[in-house]
Amino acid sequence: MLVGAVASLLGDRTQVGVFSCDARRGLGLRVCNGTTTVRPDASPWPEILVDAVNNSGMVLRSDAGQHCGALRLESSELCDEDLILAFGSDIPVANDRFAGVEMLARIFGNQIRMLDYSELDSLTRLLNRKTFDETFDRLLTSASAPGCECLPCSERRHGEENDSPAWLCVVDIDHFKRINDSFGHLFGDEVLLRMGELMRRTFRDGDRLFRFGGEEFVVILNADNEQLAAAGFERLRRTVEEHEFPQVGQVTCSIGFTAVSAFDVPTDALGRADEALYYAKEHGRNRVCGYESLLAEGAIVRAEPETVRVADDLDIDALFG
Ligand code: GH3
Ligand code: MG
Ligand code: MG
Repeated sequence: MLVGAVASLLGDRTQVGVFSCDARRGLGLRVCNGTTTVRPDASPWPEILVDAVNNSGMVLRSDAGQHCGALRLESSELCDEDLILAFGSDIPVANDRFAGVEMLARIFGNQIRMLDYSELDSLTRLLNRKTFDETFDRLLTSASAPGCECLPCSERRHGEENDSPAWLCVVDIDHFKRINDSFGHLFGDEVLLRMGELMRRTFRDGDRLFRFGGEEFVVILNADNEQLAAAGFERLRRTVEEHEFPQVGQVTCSIGFTAVSAFDVPTDALGRADEALYYAKEHGRNRVCGYESLLAEGAIVRAEPETVRVADDLDIDALFG
């Protein structure tokens, strides 16, 4: 919408695009208006895009008959690259239009901040429970980019879909109540904050990390098999165990995980992971347990869906009559 709005503000002769710029991937055109000849590697774009990254205002340049402008956009906290709105025309753009472009970019920035506010947990800046519930189906089918729904990320996601099965784990800090009771809530909050940082450091870019509230976290990642998924979760368990938390010292966590199928509903997947977590808590804490393995070993039994027995002579009309 931003590109469309800027294009209609600047007129037919103007090409408008949003570029991404980051150290690893370099420059890339993420979205543009209609058919465009804008190519990130073609002059005069590279210089003006890099200038825009290092400049808080709009950068303007006229070069080889092209009149170009670029402006850095505010991006989501989850988006690890700079986004640049850029436009170019073969006729000069009237000066009074630039303020309009800046205003549209500010509106875009406000939208992004509002999305972050509603989708992220305010303490840890991980995705929140609401985002989990609302995006569960999509999470299982599009398996890259950390939940970011900004155009550049969702565009990129198309090219990076991951076919490996999805795995969901519930992470619960051990004896967290004791930490609060012994050191106070402020240090308890610090543990939660650090936990978020350790999770970000442990998992890959495309894994989705949530704080579910309290001292519970959820991770969804893709891995080819249970061993690889377990290795990822085990890495988190060990990282937490080895981290020196300020004042509190050593903290451990227990993790339960399960495979997630495309037909799963969130409550079922969470229920299975919770069951494995409960087993981990009951068997010494500070461990990772997989629901499917526990089931295969006979350590737990599959809960049968509750059946309601209906009396043979039940008169339904009498009930509602
Ligand atoms: P277990 O090893 O069995 O998980 O024990 P636990 O003490 O971690 O679990 P329990 O559910 O008994 O206690 C969780 C505590 O987390 C209780 C609650 O006061 C605290 N808590 C919940 N949300 C927050 C928060 O946002 N900040 C802080 N500091 N504490 C919180
Ligand atoms: Mg808990
Ligand atoms: Mg706990």
